[in-house]
Amino acid sequence: MKRVLVVGAGIRGLVTAAREHLANNQVFIIEKRKRIGGRGTSEESHGHQLEHGPHLLLKGGELHKMIKKVSRVKPSLRPIMPHKVLIVDHGMLQPLNNPKQMLAHKLGKDPIRDEAILLLSGWGQDHPERRKALMKGRLCVVGEGWAGLIGRLASTLEEVGVPIQTGMKIVEQYDGGVVTSKGLKVEADIVKMCDGSPEGEAIKVSTLDVVLDNKPLKGLHGIIKEDVAIIDLAAIHSLKAPGMSHFSCISLTRGVSAIEDLLDERVSGWRSHIITKRANESITLTDSTGHLSDGVI
Ligand SMILES: Cc1cc2nc3c(=O)[nH]c(=O)nc-3n(C[C@H](O)[C@H](O)[C@H](O)COP(=O)(O)OP(=O)(O)OC[C@H]3O[C@@H](n4cnc5c(N)ncnc54)[C@H](O)[C@@H]3O)c2cc1C
Repeated sequence: MKRVLVVGAGIRGLVTAAREHLANNQVFIIEKRKRIGGRGTSEESHGHQLEHGPHLLLKGGELHKMIKKVSRVKPSLRPIMPHKVLIVDHGMLQPLNNPKQMLAHKLGKDPIRDEAILLLSGWGQDHPERRKALMKGRLCVVGEGWAGLIGRLASTLEEVGVPIQTGMKIVEQYDGGVVTSKGLKVEADIVKMCDGSPEGEAIKVSTLDVVLDNKPLKGLHGIIKEDVAIIDLAAIHSLKAPGMSHFSCISLTRGVSAIEDLLDERVSGWRSHIITKRANESITLTDSTGHLSDGVI
């Protein structure tokens, strides 16, 4: 049995800790913030959980498998349906009722639709498996949110006795342990750095999560224009803001203002129906590896 120290309690750290525990090692986690979850955290506001932008779980992917392994109850998943996503001035993402558009797409003669698929399946990163999953209805909104998945991993670790020390920042690593910002040395046989540091260049995006007291999109799952996507989580999953809209939006390169411009264009009067919102001008989506959660665990 080895003493394994995991630095960081985001998805990667929690999954790494679970794996090390299963390998019969003595595991402990150190997290610099007061809260665990990293980019998977949510914020409760007016009875709604607001996350850092849209997250879609690949059904049957590595993260989904791990969550099922550690949970007694399966997570509730509902797919985003591509025939309910509108590409502005172009048609539906999957144009079921338009054979001409379907053919053009199949023949590779529809770059706008290809870009939109890339945007929604991997937030601009090319993940062939997620692209296929999107078109087959296997990219899903998680009923309890990304933060719910974090909660499942954390409570399993607690049950099996893996301690998570929060509010402790690691500033140095040496052969045989780490040093905290207060100068404390913590010894371990193996240190696993899961602190979310990007490999190479960080790819940053902007996000806006907003809950409205009405349903102006009338059942549409999403709207795409250029590199901006608005996804209505409430239209996809009944556990999200029933009777309302919960828009989780992402802008790859043009900031939160581009999301607001698209809302102004397509959802008239949205500003007077806001219950709560959370904006993020710049957050690391991934790095030069291009991996999302499935890729990092
Ligand atoms: C807008 C957006 C949409 C996304 N959509 C998807 C999606 O649809 N599907 C998908 O699979 N993935 C998605 N992702 C990616 C996913 O959120 C990340 O891959 C995942 O959250 C990264 O987890 P992590 O544990 O590697 O890093 P983080 O979540 O960043 O966690 C790192 C943790 O380490 C802690 N830490 C850092 N430094 C120290 C230190 N020195 N000492 C102690 N603790 C430290 C941090 O506080 C943090 O809690 C998305 C991300 C964004 C931003």
